Amino acid sequence: MCVFCKIIDGTIPCYKVYEDEDFIAFLDISQATVGHTLLVPKMHAENVFCLPSHLQEKMGVTLVKMANQLKKTLHVSNLNILNNNGEAAGQTVPHFHIHLIPRYPDDDLTIRFKPHLTTPESSIELQKKILSN
Ligand code: 5GP
Ligand code: ZN
Repeated sequence: MCVFCKIIDGTIPCYKVYEDEDFIAFLDISQATVGHTLLVPKMHAENVFCLPSHLQEKMGVTLVKMANQLKKTLHVSNLNILNNNGEAAGQTVPHFHIHLIPRYPDDDLTIRFKPHLTTPESSIELQKKILSN
């Protein structure tokens, strides 16, 4: 059983901050910033590609609800929402989860997007490929 399934069934303790019939949210054991929270479906699904259809819409609604709960209770208006899918993307726990990371001035956390060289031609190719769905 994965570590988040153990948290969900109560075998491993957590600081729970939200729960409904399908989702749970708790403080990340390693607080990237104060209030760093993980929103997790109770059903084990490894990543976004495996999330069952009946949870997809509710995931979005619950995510926005959770973001507003943190905003209101922690008085933060800056927040990163992050989700890693697969090892190369930085996923370390193989149970789908979304990070909500409150941001504070000078909190010293860096999330950096490095630019890659693109041309109008390569962007058109990329656009076509993604639209070909
Ligand atoms: P990932 O790297 O997979 O996107 O994020 C996994 C997160 O789960 C990490 O930020 C890590 O600190 C957190 N985590 C791992 N094990 C535990 C645990 O036992 N309890 C809690 N609360 N968080 C955990
Ligand atoms: Zn699990």
